[in-house]
Amino acid sequence: MPASFNESNYWLTTASMPRGTAGELPASADVAIIGAGFTGLSAARTLAKRGVKVAVLEANTIGWGASSRNGGMVLTGMKLDVATLSKRYGMELTRRMYADSLASIDLVEQIVREENIACNFSRCGHLEVACKQSHFDSYARSVEVIAREFNHQLQIIPRSQLSSEIGSAIYFGGMVDETSAGVNPARYVAGLASAALKAGACIYENTRVQKIKRGPPNSAGAFEIRTSRGNIFASDTLVATSGYTSSATPELRNKIIPIGSYIIATEPLLDALAKELSPRNRMIYDSKHYLYYYRLTPDNRVLFGGRAAFFPETKDTIRRSAEILRRGMIEVYPQLRDAKIAHAWGGTVDFCFDTMPHAGQLDGIHYALGYAGHGVAMATYLGAKMAEKICGSNDEIPYAAIRFPGAPLGLYNGRPWFLPFAGAYYKVLDWIS
Ligand SMILES: Cc1cc2nc3c(=O)[nH]c(=O)nc-3n(C[C@H](O)[C@H](O)[C@H](O)COP(=O)(O)OP(=O)(O)OC[C@H]3O[C@@H](n4cnc5c(N)ncnc54)[C@H](O)[C@@H]3O)c2cc1C
Repeated sequence: MPASFNESNYWLTTASMPRGTAGELPASADVAIIGAGFTGLSAARTLAKRGVKVAVLEANTIGWGASSRNGGMVLTGMKLDVATLSKRYGMELTRRMYADSLASIDLVEQIVREENIACNFSRCGHLEVACKQSHFDSYARSVEVIAREFNHQLQIIPRSQLSSEIGSAIYFGGMVDETSAGVNPARYVAGLASAALKAGACIYENTRVQKIKRGPPNSAGAFEIRTSRGNIFASDTLVATSGYTSSATPELRNKIIPIGSYIIATEPLLDALAKELSPRNRMIYDSKHYLYYYRLTPDNRVLFGGRAAFFPETKDTIRRSAEILRRGMIEVYPQLRDAKIAHAWGGTVDFCFDTMPHAGQLDGIHYALGYAGHGVAMATYLGAKMAEKICGSNDEIPYAAIRFPGAPLGLYNGRPWFLPFAGAYYKVLDWIS
């Protein structure tokens, strides 16, 4: 492959992050939020607008985590398909979860509009493409259930008409949802941070939370939070650390499997070629477990991602993944055989043992995480919902109503030793199913 790609996140070359709050940590805040990504910043914005004193504690810099590194696909539904969800949770709860997934996209759109965030948000729709005939056959059932049970319309695209959607001949058909959107995630997270700061939230960068303790009786807060820059008391705490959840919150870390996801971006393509590859500029992903997801950027690059290595990002996994992804991209789009890869990067996604998002309280500490690579809209939404909950809202959050499982037999301490086996398992599953 052309060896000249940068190990760098393309989105960050297009965005400028606001600076966090200067100065020392305050002695106390009403609410301490751990993590300055979509979840934490959306919560901070909501709380600060209600006059709550918020301190966001971020180990790195604003938007450092998955929120600036993702594909920018603002998708309907959840990681699990509707058949699996309804079998597991029943149709009524699934209906509420699905409705929340639609509301989460509306919320992103509303925030972008209200806060005037220049992040190329566009309701361009998404296209799922079928890698096998059996996958395509299952689309008809999904479309029918989603229309009947959730009153939401998707469109089936037979193979004979697929060229109107994608310039690739390898798929057996597709399914389009016009409600999904695309966004520049780095610009969006920067805008969300600016909005939270403008509303009065404080964001402390380079402040790693090391431990959360119950505060002593009669102290300034229910929790004493120990950080790399000193301690802070808070009446409430929200953990918004996603795939980067650490030993600072051991009970949550033991429920999260951190999995690497990787992306390459080509150099900008000529208009005609970009139009040929994605005539309707959809957010695209395929039907495999070990899936590829891809899209055009506003400046006509192909951004092509996948779980090429299961382990979280390092220099080595990024380099190896870039090679795997480039081969995958050329299988999908032989037209890109000579395209140069300008950027390659990775990030960590948070899978729970049931592949579901979870939001609630554990030992009095609030949390929202487990987005399973489907978190641009849902993290924004659950951050806001948890903020409302902290302010006393009784609104139901369906993801709070479901059991939050730990590892089977408790055989897990945050180190995902089983990832190579899981990777092999999904490869076999893609081969046989
Ligand atoms: C490569 C990639 C592609 C993706 N593509 C998509 C997509 O196209 N569509 C989609 O919907 N989703 C996608 N996702 C998932 C989506 O990006 C995430 O679900 C979402 O960004 C999670 O946001 P968050 O705020 O919860 O977590 P993050 O953005 O990961 O933020 C967590 C923050 O917590 C901080 N932190 C961790 N521990 C501590 C500590 N002890 N003290 C202080 N701070 C701490 C970290 O530094 C980090 O900044 C993708 C993810 C990746 C990695």
